[in-house]
Order: sequence, then C-alpha cells, then structure tokens
Amino acid sequence: MPVSGYRCVRCGARYPADRDYFGCPACETEVPANLEMDYAAPPPCPKADWEGRRPGLWRYVEALPVDGRGWVGLGEGGTPLLECRRLGDEIGLPGLMAKNEAQNPTWSFKDRLASVAVAWARANGRAGIAVSSSGNAGAAAAAYAARAGLPCLVLTTRAFPGTMQRFMRSFGAMVVALPTAPDRWTLNRALAQAWGWLPMSNAIDPPVGGHPAGVEGCKTIAYEIAQDLGWRVPDAVLVPVAYGDALYGIYRGFRDLVAAGVVDRLPRLVAVEAYPSLTRALSRGTDGPVTVEASGSRAHSIATPRGTYQALRAVRESGGTAVRVGDAEALQAQRALREREGLLVELSAAVPLAAARALAASGALRPEDRVVMVITSSGLKDLEVTDPDDEIPLAEPTLGGLARVLEERYGYAA
Ligand SMILES: [Zn+2]
Repeated sequence: MPVSGYRCVRCGARYPADRDYFGCPACETEVPANLEMDYAAPPPCPKADWEGRRPGLWRYVEALPVDGRGWVGLGEGGTPLLECRRLGDEIGLPGLMAKNEAQNPTWSFKDRLASVAVAWARANGRAGIAVSSSGNAGAAAAAYAARAGLPCLVLTTRAFPGTMQRFMRSFGAMVVALPTAPDRWTLNRALAQAWGWLPMSNAIDPPVGGHPAGVEGCKTIAYEIAQDLGWRVPDAVLVPVAYGDALYGIYRGFRDLVAAGVVDRLPRLVAVEAYPSLTRALSRGTDGPVTVEASGSRAHSIATPRGTYQALRAVRESGGTAVRVGDAEALQAQRALREREGLLVELSAAVPLAAARALAASGALRPEDRVVMVITSSGLKDLEVTDPDDEIPLAEPTLGGLARVLEERYGYAA
C-alpha cells in the first residue's frame, strides 16, 4: 500500500516519510505522541483475496506499508485463536479466548513489528537496525535483521532475566548494556540520527512507542482475530501494554476493517498494565498518560512507569478501559494458563487473564461476551521469574517411594 507520509496520532500534523521522527515535533512539549503511517487512501481489506492465501502476516500485504518485493519473513503471524473453556467457565466468561502470539518465530508478537520494520528499512535503503529492548523486541529485531542481511544493535540494561539476555544475543546482533533504560533511548536516537539506522523501538523520553512501520505489523493481529471469528469482532480484546504498540496496532487494524465495511464496530480494547499509568489517566481524565512510580514488578516486559498517548486514545475511542495487575495476580494467572489450558506464557503475557477475571467480577465484562486475551510471549523466556523452585524431586525407585514424593511434593494421594 503506497505511503504518503506520517501523521501525528494526536494533532494530525503530517510529515514526509523520508526520515525518522521521534514522536510528533508539534506535540513534543505538550503531550508527547507517536506518528503513524499515513496512506494515500484507506487500506483496502480484500477479505476474499486474504482468505485465499497461506496463513501469516504477509497475506494482508495490501494493508501494510511495504510491497511484496520487500518481504522479510520467518513464518510470522497466523497464530491460533484458542477457546479457553476451562478458565472461561471458572471466571464466568464462557466465551474467553486466547490469541497465542507465543507461536511466532521468536515466540512473541514483536515478530510482527520486526518483520514489517525490517522490510521497511530495507525498502528505504537503511544501513542497519537499532532497538532498545528488555528482551523480546531485541531478539525479534536481531532475527529479522539477520534474515535481511542487515547489522543490528540492541541497547539494553542488565536488569532483565538471564534467559532474555542470552536470547537477544542468539542471532548475531551486537548487544550492549547501558546504565539505565532512558540511556538506551538517548543513544538510540543519537545513532539513528548519526548513522541513519532504523530505530525500531521507542527512542525518546517520555516514551512515544515504536517505529510507525513496525506498529503496522500489529494490525494483522486484528485481521486474524476477525477472520477467525467469521469476519466479526469480539466484544473485548485484552492486551498487555508497555508503550502499547500491540494495542494501538490492533486498534488500527480493527479501524481499517470498519472503514472498509468488513465489520461494523470496534471491540472494546482493554490495556493491561503493570503500573497504573493509563489507569490513572482514565480516572483523572488527562489528555496523556500519567507518569507513576516504578515500585517494582516481575513482569519486566511491561514494567514501564509511563504508557503512551496513543494507547490511551485507543482505549478511550473503543469504549474500553485499563486494568493494573500486580505480581501476585500475574503469577496466579500465569500458573492457571499453563496448568489449566496448556499455555506456557511469559509473566507479562499472563496479565490479560487476571484483568478478565477482575472485569468479570465487577460486571464490566458479561457472561455472554466474547473476550480475546492477547498472549504476547512464551513462558520459556522467564522461567526463572515464574518458576524459581525448579529442582525436580528425587524418588526412591519403588512404588512406595514414588507415592511418598507425589504426596509430599504434589499433594497427590494414590
Ligand atoms: Zn502532533
């Protein structure tokens, strides 16, 4: 789909797409806001063509900012929408479903961003990819950059789980730690300006979110959900948020479908966060997100003390809400998903279940609602966070010895 430039998500100001911006210059001193892709015409949504192609992100190429020649693919997208009847019945939402983004090539939704952002970088002659990351975005950028033959620099800190650090280094990217998270953004922005490398993630403080081209990749989550439901929208979509790239991309995707007349409304979008930035903005009625204290969270992929303007806007315009989930509820949800539905998810990816439970209890979600939880990432990445007691019990090799271990360790009486 031909791109005419970038457009500010807040004030609507338009900018040429021949360089990168770090949020809208006109909004920077008021309420920092990201830019989004601006197309010459609303993206067409030819659902018959889409249905006739192989599953995956690139079946929706008409609605993406890169044409077929620039594809950088590892089999991203086409993830399953799974009914969760056991947990749904338990919390009073029989129509509960999970969109399992852990089945992407590097086991998170970030592959959708990286695939499109790297394709955009290549189509625009960029010399490399730069990303600030706590894990998933860095690994996804590194994998797709390797596939495209571009160098990749991942700026991180040493605060994240060891598995995540090794994961980011697995694809040959240059991974460098800096003292603080904002240091990463300052350097990312400087090198994007000096070297012309594509800044895939946020690169400014206060944060505005990821590169507009990458966010377009997340639109395909919305297309896939609608397609799997027979081109209908669910009642609510619950998404873990840090800077809300997935949430805003999903919002844009559903908006495309409404504009093209494929569906007649937006689902309510629910932002699920580790710190109450958007929650507080909604209760206070502020134009932008509120900066809150980072009081400590084990859900490191979403542990950001400030959300973004566009995530707040997507929630408001869809009639949705924001829910803060603490560590204890997140750990309980993570365990319930793996032990009751067979879904091993990162702690940050489990929070939609905790939010669904809370919204069902308050009546904000009703028993007849069809509710989609976006499971953003695999639980193999932070097992040291979610399952720290990992020693397997040793049994004497007799039935009596086995029975003792089963009862002591697992509470199972034979
Ligand atoms: Zn603006």
